[in-house]
Amino acid sequence: MTDALLEQILARIDALEPLHAFPGVDEIRGTADRLAAGHADRITRTVIGTSRLGEEIVDYAVGEGPAILVIGGVHPNEPIGFHTALELLRDLAEGRGPAARIDARWHVVPCIDPDGTRLNEGWFTAPGDRVSYGRDFYRPAPLEQVEWSFPLDHRGIVWDSPIPETAALMSLMDATRPALVVGLHNAELGGVYYYASPDLAEAFPALHAIPAHLGLPLDLGEPEFAGIDPLADAVFPALTARDMIDVLLSEGIDPAPHVTAAGTADHARDLGASAFVAELPYWSHPAADDTTPAGISYADALRRKADALDEVGAVLLAAVETAEPHLVIDSQLRRAAVQFARFLAGAGDEPRHRAGLPASQREATVAEVFSNEDHVRMFQLRFGSMLARTLRAEIAAGTARPAVRAALAELEPHLDAWYAAAHAEQRDLRVIPIERLVGVQLGTMLAAAHSAVARRRESVA
Ligand SMILES: [Zn+2]
Repeated sequence: MTDALLEQILARIDALEPLHAFPGVDEIRGTADRLAAGHADRITRTVIGTSRLGEEIVDYAVGEGPAILVIGGVHPNEPIGFHTALELLRDLAEGRGPAARIDARWHVVPCIDPDGTRLNEGWFTAPGDRVSYGRDFYRPAPLEQVEWSFPLDHRGIVWDSPIPETAALMSLMDATRPALVVGLHNAELGGVYYYASPDLAEAFPALHAIPAHLGLPLDLGEPEFAGIDPLADAVFPALTARDMIDVLLSEGIDPAPHVTAAGTADHARDLGASAFVAELPYWSHPAADDTTPAGISYADALRRKADALDEVGAVLLAAVETAEPHLVIDSQLRRAAVQFARFLAGAGDEPRHRAGLPASQREATVAEVFSNEDHVRMFQLRFGSMLARTLRAEIAAGTARPAVRAALAELEPHLDAWYAAAHAEQRDLRVIPIERLVGVQLGTMLAAAHSAVARRRESVA
């Protein structure tokens, strides 16, 4: 990648206007449709599927060249990409900026999971407060996540019923044979990190330079998935389900609770496509990139995390076991809340296992201790809130039996304590301006796109 292109990317992201909220489904669709209608000569609008509740899933295609797929809302609780997709589409519609100079056929799907996105809209207008975020947070159950519902048949783990949103993405991938697939994810707290195919290495220096330019730290704490080595600082290989299953089995861990279906990266690899994900936090914390020694062993940090996860898991599981036989409303929210509660009840096993490995008998860094603690806080806020919301929905609908009310009454004091702890901890958090997050996601995606298109041309030539 040339310095000139990096300069153009930095100039483009410096020009982003301040943003204070995230758009909901209707706003995303309205904006994208207006752009398509206003630039019908450039943009091809195609409905590629419908959601489980019957909403259209739309692809907006622009340009000529190798295909690049940009997919927003892949996790509907991760809305930074809605802005990124719309900014990209605006540039492509108007033929301006570095995006328009990359010779590619861009396929932008701004919101692939409208049903899940609507369940998060409660916090989109006030995104800075971590407690209000937690209260209205929704993340689908694993097999209902668009990027993790691809067919899988690997070492005894089989899945063959992709959700309609995944089927739409798969058919778009199959039809376009893309050079690059970009899932617009984001994380929650800490620094910036990435998942990238190794063949995008030409873009890696830009992946460090772009957040540095906007004053965002890289995340140097715990990797999300232990056992996979980074390709560069904060750049991890794009995760395939098949790799994760192999790593877990090699560590003597049963992969079944952790990996249930294949991911976009599996299907991308089968099609010879590169994959790229930028993970961005809403909040930063001074400990998140502090690599100084923490004064405790890494093994102890993992044991503390395991104990804390067991505690949270026990609280949620007790509420589920009281309420579940009496729940009558079948919803995505309920399926997710129940599954995550059951998953958490066993989530301490993996860090406890890793605490016993020889490699864990060393001093931990401050960043590692912090990210292990924050992981627990994140689970308390997310999955405690989703379960409470599920129980309250039964009360609101007039379907709650006494056991459902009792489960909520048992859960609420714990939830209040978790909210209070998160609220107190919030004093040390810095809310990162949304336009900088969009800037990093847009800028790094352009760097990855440039690299993928260059490689595709080399391999054709
Ligand atoms: Zn995600």
